[in-house]
Amino acid sequence: MSTETINKEILRGGQFLVKETKCEDVFTLEDLNEEQKMMRDSTKEFVDREVWAHWERFEKKDYAFTEECMRKAGELGLLGISVPEAYDGLGMGFVSTMLVCDYISGATGSFSTAYGAHTGIGTMPITLYGNEEQKKKYVPKLATGEWFGAYCLTEPGAGSDANSGKTKAELSDDGKHYLISGQKMWISNAGFCQLFIVFARIGDDKNITGFIVENDPSNGITMGEEEPKLGIKSSSTRQVFFNETKVPVENMLSERGGGFKIAMNALNVGRIKLAAACLDAQRRIIDEATKYANERIQFKTPIMNFGAIKSKIATMATNTYADESASYRAAKNIEDRIAIRVAEGNSHQEAELKGVEEYAIECSILKVAVSEHVQSTSDEGIQIFGGMGFSAEAPMESAWRDARISRIYEGTNEINRMLSVGMLVKKAMRGHVDLLNPAMKVADELTGIPSFDTPDYSEVLSEEKDMIAKLKKVFLMVAGSAVQKFGPELEKHQQLLMASSDILIQIYLAESAILRTEKNAKRFGEESQAVQIAMSKLYLYNAVDIIQSKGKEAIVSFAEGDEQRMMLMGLKRFTKYMNHPNVVALRTQIADSVAAENGYHFD
Ligand SMILES: Cc1cc2nc3c(=O)[nH]c(=O)nc-3n(C[C@H](O)[C@H](O)[C@H](O)COP(=O)(O)OP(=O)(O)OC[C@H]3O[C@@H](n4cnc5c(N)ncnc54)[C@H](O)[C@@H]3O)c2cc1C
Repeated sequence: MSTETINKEILRGGQFLVKETKCEDVFTLEDLNEEQKMMRDSTKEFVDREVWAHWERFEKKDYAFTEECMRKAGELGLLGISVPEAYDGLGMGFVSTMLVCDYISGATGSFSTAYGAHTGIGTMPITLYGNEEQKKKYVPKLATGEWFGAYCLTEPGAGSDANSGKTKAELSDDGKHYLISGQKMWISNAGFCQLFIVFARIGDDKNITGFIVENDPSNGITMGEEEPKLGIKSSSTRQVFFNETKVPVENMLSERGGGFKIAMNALNVGRIKLAAACLDAQRRIIDEATKYANERIQFKTPIMNFGAIKSKIATMATNTYADESASYRAAKNIEDRIAIRVAEGNSHQEAELKGVEEYAIECSILKVAVSEHVQSTSDEGIQIFGGMGFSAEAPMESAWRDARISRIYEGTNEINRMLSVGMLVKKAMRGHVDLLNPAMKVADELTGIPSFDTPDYSEVLSEEKDMIAKLKKVFLMVAGSAVQKFGPELEKHQQLLMASSDILIQIYLAESAILRTEKNAKRFGEESQAVQIAMSKLYLYNAVDIIQSKGKEAIVSFAEGDEQRMMLMGLKRFTKYMNHPNVVALRTQIADSVAAENGYHFD
């Protein structure tokens, strides 16, 4: 890593809210180096050839085919992208890992779930928390696809409340084994894995402990039937029962009681990778919907010519563009933070752990935003296909069903919404992000006289950047007052947290799209970015609408009288455009460009 990168001040997690980011400092898909492009292209090529070409098979509960595709992915090295070379992986950076998760997801949720469960939560707990013997013994097998991994956290009575599991681990009389007993459910890859990461409680410990458990049916391990599911039909999902399963003491991961931390950190990484895994799904839906709309004739006209359809295509493309922008911005922050820690002398393991943990807020933001966009994109995909969209013979129906799970696993979107704001407040209290001073400044501004100067918005996206700065004030105003009012009791005010989180999410996504476009306009010329400028403006316009509505909801939930009036006036001032964008014209411009290229063409 260059000293330039090390010396460059990289924003800490959550700091995007209080520090201005220069467009030159964000990483974009247009910054990929040759190695990263090669990873992207070979993943795309693999998915087109081996997965997309057979998408119908994934709708027929063909679990063996999913396993076959996983094995092929292993042969190509795609299962070991982020695994260090010392353990037979490719040892690539975080951005490359994201690219593979992204482009592997396009064809079917079944395969991308199997891939994500194996490479993320099935392998990462060992690479991040395993000792040298554990890593040497298990990681090469997982990185090459000789073995597959699964992750057993959820139980019938312990879902979102993951630390409340009842699975027990008892030390054997000779002190050589733990005997694990309990029931796990919703376990992805259970039907074909050779290894489980299992979380169990030792005695009356407050926290659960992680174990590496080999899948051996003669060792008290049995399984339920494959779960009948709404979507991801060929992703194996089963209950797993452990009945006094003997696990050598040396297979404990990290330390006794360290399991909850492992589980949460594995999920942090899982969340940003899940966001990536909802990107190419969206691109492919847009491509298919665009092709269909260009060809489908009604009223003697391709339906693409209708404004109602253009509006949908434009919104689908715009959300995808913002999602890409935010996902790769955060991915590079993580990669740089890891590199800084390695340069400071941390082991790669420690550096990766801390690097991802630092951006846990962004990981939650991305998980929520992108999983909801893939849902709305697939829903509009069905609508554009009309009756054919409802047919199981066209790919929109399965895309819609497959998209639904992303809002549930890796922490539900409700939990992630609350986490994003909760973690930010905690960071502020620990002094890692200074929210207090900026929030006080906003409070002063509210009581001061507004400036009547006419700003110069001649530079491209300058009004939009100004708007982002104002939207950050909305968050600081709302969250700052809420923290003051409720203190530690804030976590009990869930609807307020959810509204605040929606504001946070919209700011991060809109800012990321704008910074990406500004960077590209500066280096490639404004004209070349005309459609991206339109998408950045459209995303921001929609974000402002959401922030107005959520801001109002939050303010009236806890402020009254003069305080309420002042905050509502602030909200109005901080969401006011000087030059309202013509969103109808923006949508038309975006849709026309997508239609002309017969698909999404901004990645
Ligand atoms: C297809 C599939 C694959 C999966 N794969 C795996 C896997 O490989 N390994 C694994 O361990 N797990 C896996 N899971 C489990 C998944 O992670 C859980 O389903 C998820 O965490 C939610 O838990 P739950 O189902 O118990 O829902 P619950 O926790 O019961 O939640 C139900 C609802 O209540 C809300 N809720 C819960 N607590 C709160 C709260 N404190 N405040 C506000 N709202 C709340 C939730 O947001 C949700 O809307 C999988 C699930 C599915 C469906």
